[in-house]
Amino acid sequence: MRAVAYQADGTLAVVEKPDPVAGRGQAVVAVERCGICGSDIHLRRSGMLGPGAVMGHEFAGTVVSAGEGEGVDDGRGLVGQRVAVLPFRRCGACPRCLEGRTALCVEGMAHGLGLGGLDGAFAEYVTVSSRSCHPVPPGMTADQGALVEPYAVALHGVRRSRVEPGSVVGVIGAGPIGLMTIAALRAAGVEAIVVAERSDTRAELAVALGASAVAADAHQLSSAIGDDLDVVFECAGVPETPQIALELVRPGGQVVLVGVTNPDEPLTMVSFLWIIKEVDIAGSFAYDDVDYADAVIAVAGGAVDPALVVSEVRPLEDADASFDELLEPGGPIKLLLAP
Ligand SMILES: [Zn+2]
Ligand SMILES: [Zn+2]
Repeated sequence: MRAVAYQADGTLAVVEKPDPVAGRGQAVVAVERCGICGSDIHLRRSGMLGPGAVMGHEFAGTVVSAGEGEGVDDGRGLVGQRVAVLPFRRCGACPRCLEGRTALCVEGMAHGLGLGGLDGAFAEYVTVSSRSCHPVPPGMTADQGALVEPYAVALHGVRRSRVEPGSVVGVIGAGPIGLMTIAALRAAGVEAIVVAERSDTRAELAVALGASAVAADAHQLSSAIGDDLDVVFECAGVPETPQIALELVRPGGQVVLVGVTNPDEPLTMVSFLWIIKEVDIAGSFAYDDVDYADAVIAVAGGAVDPALVVSEVRPLEDADASFDELLEPGGPIKLLLAP
């Protein structure tokens, strides 16, 4: 099969790899679409990938074969089904899994697809855990399938917050996760949403997805909507913005950190402000299994319009150039690869 592999010189190239075979508890999925994520771009530059590694964790496709297994690990009934795949394998037995907070499963990360360990879905076929396959409703498009994973990230962020339909909410950054967060907030009944975004194109998309106001500068979020902010979502993943969120949120409000910063980059947050305003800061990492399952239904039901978020669908051969383009200011929002 063809796959996009990381090369020793840091580039991405289409290579020939053996067709995967499903072992016990595993399924092989023929990939229809796989989105390029900001974390893929970080990963490519991190030096953490070995030569030959295949990235790609935002994907959907059709199960072409599956191995035996017990209970949820028996994927044989999935053969022929179109699925969106949760790209982590949860153990199902640790304390965090047992309380439903599967995003925090220690084993889950170790069994992540396309994150440097197991090969991901920038390929014709990918081996996955049968238990991670979520059959999609009939009629769900391939583009929608690839948006389930990033939508689940946004949905989890909204669920980590205490927004209510009447809340006044700020979102910093209208990249893919910021845009999905707006969609998930709207789906939760929130109407007062103000977005900080410098790019006019992205600001327009934010409004199309349901933002009620935009500000070019994050410092102007409150004045742009003319109200105090109950909750601020940091979706830009830059170290400066959490402090701005802390300054802007109302006393007793909440800041939710969704955007992922570089692992070795410290944040500057003035603890005095944090204390005297009694702001709650919540981290939000990926999604629990229930968020992913609900994201399948939400995206299939039209929670986010792929025409607004997906800039283009490209062949595997375009992976290397696409990664570069996504880094350019004014570049595309979300690119999907179609093997
Ligand atoms: Zn991602
Ligand atoms: Zn676990």
